[in-house]
Amino acid sequence: MQPDPIMPAIFVSHGAPTLILQDSPTRRFLADLGGLVPRPTAIVAVSAHWCTRAPAVSSAARPDTVHDFHGFPEALYRLRYPAPGAPDLAARIAALLGAAGIATDTDPDQGLDHGGWVPAMLGWPAADIPILQLAVQPDSDAAHHRRVGLALAPLRAEGVLVVGSGSATHNLRALDRISGAQPAPWARAFDDWLCEAVVRGDADELVAWKERAPAARMNHPTDEHFLPLFAALGAAGERPRGEVLHRGFMAGSLSMSAFAFH
Ligand code: ZN
Repeated sequence: MQPDPIMPAIFVSHGAPTLILQDSPTRRFLADLGGLVPRPTAIVAVSAHWCTRAPAVSSAARPDTVHDFHGFPEALYRLRYPAPGAPDLAARIAALLGAAGIATDTDPDQGLDHGGWVPAMLGWPAADIPILQLAVQPDSDAAHHRRVGLALAPLRAEGVLVVGSGSATHNLRALDRISGAQPAPWARAFDDWLCEAVVRGDADELVAWKERAPAARMNHPTDEHFLPLFAALGAAGERPRGEVLHRGFMAGSLSMSAFAFH
């Protein structure tokens, strides 16, 4: 990545919770995240796992590590990410969104779900950078999430890193866990479309993904894992420059693609 005068915004595919336990190309990529961007003054994690009706930002001074999954190895439930929260930044984010006409709740009880803490623990393992979460609204569209991101764009000049954490493709019913399985053609086609649109900085094409992307519904039977991408896209401003940071597939059809928006 080229040095950036201001902080980029990024989107990462966080995979299964077990990603953090097992070596993989994506785990290695996420472990390098801290070196790919300037040191953030704070991290805003837009998590696919915090779904709300109205926009919401977490304001806990000491956010809990939430193990929001069941039936995984015990070692996963012992992991804690003790980074401080950012209540003042949460208030500013609510104000920025409010000024953009997006009424936003602040939630002091929301901790860090695995969409937030898994990438953060890998990228910034010292847990010394304040972090908060921003929710997604599955009832609202890509354009809404881009507007949320656009309202946060001024924070990049202050070193705040917006991390959209979801999945470039996310059809859990279509996973093929046979190791070495080739990516499914419909997943590869979607991922190719996505990477090409990101590199072109084509926000209109991306926002119209349900009409434009190949096999859109097959790749995202529900929207929530794709929506964080639009917040990161928006945070790069009206004319984003996109960059592919990482590509790869897990379980046959789960794209692990990650992007930076400048
Ligand atoms: Zn997830």
